[in-house]
This record gives sequence, C-alpha cells and structure tokens, in this order.
Amino acid sequence: MTETLRPKVLVIGGGPGGYVAAIRAGQLGLDTVLVESGRLGGTCLTRGCIPSKALIHAAGLYEEAVMASAEMGRFGIHLNQAPTLRFEETVGWKDAIVDRLSGGVAGLLRKAKVKSVVGWASFSDAKTCTVETPEGPVTIRPEHVILATGATAVELPFLPFGGRVISSTEALSLPEVPATLAVVGGGYIGLELGIAFAKLGSKVTIIEAMDRLLPLYDAQLTAPVARWLEKHGVTVYLGAKALGQDQEGLLIQTAGGERQLVVPAERILVTVGRKPQTEGWGLDQMALAMDGPFVRVDERCATSTTNVWAIGDLVGEPMLAHKASAQGEMVAEIIAGRRRRFEPVAIAAVCFTEPEIVSVGLTPDQAPEGVETVVGQFPFQANGRALSMQAGDDGGFVRILARKSDHRILGIQAVGRHCSELAGEFATLMEVGGVLEDVAGVIHVHPTLGEAIHESALKALGHAIHI
Ligand code: FAD
Repeated sequence: MTETLRPKVLVIGGGPGGYVAAIRAGQLGLDTVLVESGRLGGTCLTRGCIPSKALIHAAGLYEEAVMASAEMGRFGIHLNQAPTLRFEETVGWKDAIVDRLSGGVAGLLRKAKVKSVVGWASFSDAKTCTVETPEGPVTIRPEHVILATGATAVELPFLPFGGRVISSTEALSLPEVPATLAVVGGGYIGLELGIAFAKLGSKVTIIEAMDRLLPLYDAQLTAPVARWLEKHGVTVYLGAKALGQDQEGLLIQTAGGERQLVVPAERILVTVGRKPQTEGWGLDQMALAMDGPFVRVDERCATSTTNVWAIGDLVGEPMLAHKASAQGEMVAEIIAGRRRRFEPVAIAAVCFTEPEIVSVGLTPDQAPEGVETVVGQFPFQANGRALSMQAGDDGGFVRILARKSDHRILGIQAVGRHCSELAGEFATLMEVGGVLEDVAGVIHVHPTLGEAIHESALKALGHAIHI
C-alpha cells in the first residue's frame, strides 16, 4: 500500500542546500520531510568539499614526510627512510570523516524533527511527489516544495566516464595512486585534485582549453599556483584540447592546433564543469521557468510556480556549498512567514590549491568604470606567522581594493598557504560595508596571517608598517 504524507514542506536533496533548509524549517516548527536518494550531506559532504579537503590534507602531510626523508631533511627533521603510503588507509580515513559528518546531519535532522525519506523523488505535478523507498512507494503532497537537487559532473562525449576516465567522485576513492594522471580542465576542482595527486607521487599533466589556469581569478592571484606546478614537475598545456584516448593515454591538441600528442595517463580525470541535476525527477511536469540550464528563481529563491522554491547548484552560480546553505536557510524562514531576500553583498570563494586562493568582491581589474580606486597589497613574505609555517615564500599576498572617495572596501583577495581561513574576515568586511579605516582600526592578533589584512589596509591608506 502506498503511504501518503502531507507535510508543510518537502525538501528534495540532502546536500548543504537541502539539509540546511530542512533543519531550519524543522527548527521553525514546520512539518518537514526531506528526500535524499544517496547519503545525507549531498555532493559537498560525500564526494565534494569535505573528502577533497581531507585528501588534500593527507597529501600535504605525505609530501612533507617525503621531504623530511630526503637528504636535506625539513627544518632539522630527518626521517631515516622514505614514508610508506598505504593509500587504501588514506581513503578509509577520508571515508570515516564522511561517515561521521553524514551521521551528524542525520542526527541534526532528527533533532529538528524532520522526517527523512530515502529514495529517488519523482514529481507527477508540482505538488505531487512519489518516492520509491526500500519499504515501498511513498506519495508526498506538500504545501511547499524546496528543490535542492544539486549538480553533477559534465561528461565529454569523446571521453565518457568509465574505465580509466573518471570524474572527481571516482578520483576521491581510487584504489591506488595512479602513476600518471591527466587532468582535463584547469578549474578549481581539477587543480585541487591534480595538486593533491602530484603530492602523493603521481606524474600529473593538466590540459586547459583557455590560455591560463583558474580563469575565474586574475593572473596575479594565480601566478603563485602556476609557479608551484612548474616547480613540482606538473606539466601544464594551456590553450590545448583533449581529443580522446588511446592505449597509451590521453590524446591532445596543443595550443593553436600546432601538434597532436599523447599524454601518458593511467587515469584521465575530467573536470570541465558541473551541470545542474535537472533530469529524471519530473522537472518537466512542474511548469518551472528556466534560466539556461538552471531553474529560474527570484531574489527569494521562488520559482515561477507558487510555493515551489529552488536553491543551491540547481539555480546557478556560484555553485558553492555556502551559497546553497544560505539560500536554504532563507527559504525555510520565508515559508515560516519571515521577510527575507537573497542579496549578499558578495560570496567568498576559495581554491584549496597550493597555495590557496581566496577571493571576495571585485578584483582591481573589475573596478567599475569611472570609479577611482586604491589598492593595498601586502606580501606574506613580510608576515611573521606566514614565515613560521612555510607560508611566506610562495609569492603570496593579501590585496584589498577600495573606493578612493570614501575608502569603502570593494573586494579582497589573497593567495598563500593556509590563507583560506581568512575568508571569514574578508566576507564579513564586505557584508558590513567596511572601509579601510575599519580594518586599520582593528587590532589583529599577532602572530597571525590576519595581520596581512591589516597591513594591506594600511598600505592602501599609505602607511603600512612592515613594508
Ligand atoms: P548537492 O550537494 O549536489 O546535493 C544534492 C543532493 O540531491 C544529492 O545528494 C542528490 O543525491 C540529491 N538528489 C538529486 N535529485 C534527487 C531526487 N530526485 N531524489 C532524491 N534525491 C535527489 N563547494 C564549496 O563551497 N567549497 C568547496 O571546497 C567545494 N569543493 C568541491 C569539490 C568537489 C570535488 C566538488 C564536486 C564540488 C565541490 N564544491 C565545493 C561544490 C559543492 O559541493 C556544491 O556547491 C554543493 O554541494 C551544492 O549543494 P546543493 O545542496 O545545491 O547540492
């Protein structure tokens, strides 16, 4: 017999958009059901943000140990023999973190009295959803629907996933470190994983169609990453196209169509983008207006159909976990009767490359025409904390952009080891409408990387102390 549920709110997708929406709705006393076909936590927690950062961390430790075992050692630390990598244990450690966090989400949903349904949701109209669960079909007829189905990796028709051609999902659970790895796509996911595998000992080649890596960031910010790749023997082909594969590896065409060659590749990691998950769940039955491949929403994340809301990767860029969560929390509050709009001043983005990149707001070359600006840049080379944790010699810096007339901060970026942790202060400064004098007036803890933010503001004001 089909069970029928009639909750106030139905959330489809248990990623950072959906589960946050469901928890907040539950906290607000709304009768809420969450449907997830896979594991709670979605892409982010199970095959995205968290597992990739765990792998990056382990790869960094391994690289340090390898260096300590080399003749020169590492700050007086000498290992008598090279470290052994048991990659299956590394993957197991990463999986344990995922298990712990996914279990944590389940607990939080229970605490908020959200009913979780496991299975694939399918709509026959905008307010009728059926889920095939292991216990039989469940029909759900909610008052409100929040769609948070996320995104999936884009596949190249001439390099379909399977065998040695993998997406980021498989890259995070490989049985062993590939001796050779070709990464197609030099965006943040490809570079984060490519760098991690290079540290773990793979011979990595990156193929990017544009004329530079991480095209969403300016050249000054990406230069330290390009230098790291060069120094660590990662081969980069810019302006190049992947064409297909043969027995030896990946067939590519170099810049300008000059020549074709085969890049040795035990594995080919394709990271050419992510597309919203709009198929297989009855989107076409819901009469929703679209915005290209994404579901169209307004500033409240309302779709074109009454009481159907959509959030996260499904509704467009930036396809980031923290944006999805912020939208989810907001929609739950709107359904509960609060007045909310999604109007962030800026959403910070981080690349967990080597070194890391953080960016929020405008970069100097994006300054609006006719607006005079000042830029303050401070190198991590002059920051004691950076030097004390080997974060000062990779060409990293903090850069702050402000309007000349009133010193209103328009954007802040940084590149450097460990600088991802500065993202919170950057975003806060943007969101509260900070001016240079605000940063200059805050006593930043010594010794921390945060002092470089202070100094960059002082530099923009014309009186940096340490440069
Ligand atoms: P998702 O997290 O994709 O969740 C959607 C969920 O919906 C999935 O679990 C899916 O199973 C479920 N679902 C879909 N359709 C149905 C259906 N019909 N029935 C039932 N369930 C369904 N972002 C960052 O901010 N920082 C990072 O460092 C970062 N690193 C990343 C690294 C990698 C390798 C990848 C792939 C992504 C990374 N991202 C990162 C992006 C981030 O994972 C996404 O932006 C985020 O997960 C989007 O959240 P979401 O809730 O919109 O969707």
